[in-house]
Amino acid sequence: MLAHPPTPRTGLDSPVLVLNRGYQPVRITDARDGFAMLYLGRARVLDASFEPHDFDAWAERRPSPDDEAIGTARGPIRVPRVLLLDAYNRVPRAPLRLSRRHVYLRDDFTCQYCAGRPGVKELNLDHVLPRSRGGRSTWENLVTSCRRCNLQKAWSLPEEAGMHLLKRPVRPSWSLALTLAAQRRRFAEWEPFLASVAPAGEAE
Ligand SMILES: [Zn+2]
Repeated sequence: MLAHPPTPRTGLDSPVLVLNRGYQPVRITDARDGFAMLYLGRARVLDASFEPHDFDAWAERRPSPDDEAIGTARGPIRVPRVLLLDAYNRVPRAPLRLSRRHVYLRDDFTCQYCAGRPGVKELNLDHVLPRSRGGRSTWENLVTSCRRCNLQKAWSLPEEAGMHLLKRPVRPSWSLALTLAAQRRRFAEWEPFLASVAPAGEAE
């Protein structure tokens, strides 16, 4: 029996861990995209006992009151936490978005000039080549800096200000670890699959 597509009401922004057919995590998506993949038969839900379920089978299972669910024409459907892709290479690994939080995570919340860790409120993004001199906002030109070093450096290059970078800033090669670290919500259902994910900053 073919179901009606889910009618969105709540929970559609919840993060969902996506595994390839080898049960390795490939990305985190939102439930909106997850339900679309499930409905189109591109992925199945893995339940807590690692049993895969297609859309119809998953929709048959009534959510318990504690479960996050969305309303559909055939009743509430539980938001999946883990999806298993049907094909190996259908979903390319998404590039890591350049954001303040991701730069802080890459640099382990450490000022790249004085190695201080003053806490996130005291951190700034520093353009190594200042914007006033044509420096762009890229992974290679942005570093985590404490306010004090940021002020001291001002519109100079690090060497002009007598400062040295702890390490050369690069685009992180393993984006899933950073994406995971940046997640504000994590679920127990993900944990069995995360052992293969390298810590932030390590090569893939
Ligand atoms: Zn500093």
